[in-house]
Amino acid sequence: MDHFAFPFSGVHGPQGQGYGTVWSDTPEDRRRRHDMVRQQILARGIRQPRVIRAMARLPRHLFISSEVRLSAYSDHALPSDYGQTISQPLIVAVMTAELDARPQQRILEIGTGTGYQTALLAMLYDQVFTVERVPQLAAAAQNRLQHLGFNNISFYIGDGSKGWEAHGKYDGIVVTAATAEVPEPLIAQLADGGRLIIPIGKQNLQVLKRFERCGQEIRCRDILECRFVPLV
Ligand code: SAH
Repeated sequence: MDHFAFPFSGVHGPQGQGYGTVWSDTPEDRRRRHDMVRQQILARGIRQPRVIRAMARLPRHLFISSEVRLSAYSDHALPSDYGQTISQPLIVAVMTAELDARPQQRILEIGTGTGYQTALLAMLYDQVFTVERVPQLAAAAQNRLQHLGFNNISFYIGDGSKGWEAHGKYDGIVVTAATAEVPEPLIAQLADGGRLIIPIGKQNLQVLKRFERCGQEIRCRDILECRFVPLV
C-alpha cells in the first residue's frame, strides 16, 4: 500500500511557479525519496501522517550540491557548504515529529543551513522563522526556498542562541546545532505548551532533548543520541 501517493493534501508547498520548471524532480528521484520514507522513517516507527507526506514530497536532492545528489536520500547526514551538514533524514523526521504543534502555530528554527528542515516545517506550519549565523548559507537557503514557492518563512542572520525575540513567543523551537547547555533565551521565548527540540552535549555525541513549557514549569525528556555540528 502506498501511504504517500501524489498529489498530497494537507501540507503547504512546494508548488510555486519555479517548482518543476527551474528545478528537476525525476521519477528516479521520487522513487529514492519514497524508499527513504518507507525504509528510514516509517520502518523506524515515525507515523505522523503529515510528517510522512511532507517528507515524501520534499525534494531533498535540491538542497545539496550536485556531486552528492545520488546520496541525497541515503540514511546519513551529508556535507553542505561552509563545513556544515544536512542532517540525516531520520533525525529531521524525529525532530519534526517531536514538535507536534498545530498547523496554525508559529515555529522558530535555529540553524537554517541548507533550508531542508526549514522547508519541511514550512510545509507543516503556517509561519516559520529561521535564524542562521553564516550570511552566505542564509542567502542560499532563502533563494532556494523562494524558488520552491515557499512564502511563509522569515529569515534572520545572527546568533540563534539568542532566539529571535522580535517575533516570540513560539509554539515550537527546533535547534539543528549542538550546544553544551540550553540557551536561556530559547526557554524564555517558548509559549505556554510550546516545545523546544535541541541536541545537548559534547562535540562528538549529544542527546536530543525535548523541553516543554507547562505554565511556570519546564519539563524535559531525552529522545535519542545524535551527532550535530556545534552551535557557534
Ligand atoms: N537544518 C540544517 C542543518 C544545518 S547544520 C539543514 O537541514 O541543512 C547547523 C547550522 O547551524 C549551520 O548552518 C550553522 O552555520 C548554523 N549555526 C551554528 N551556530 C549557529 C548560531 N549560533 N546561530 C545560528 N545558526 C548557527
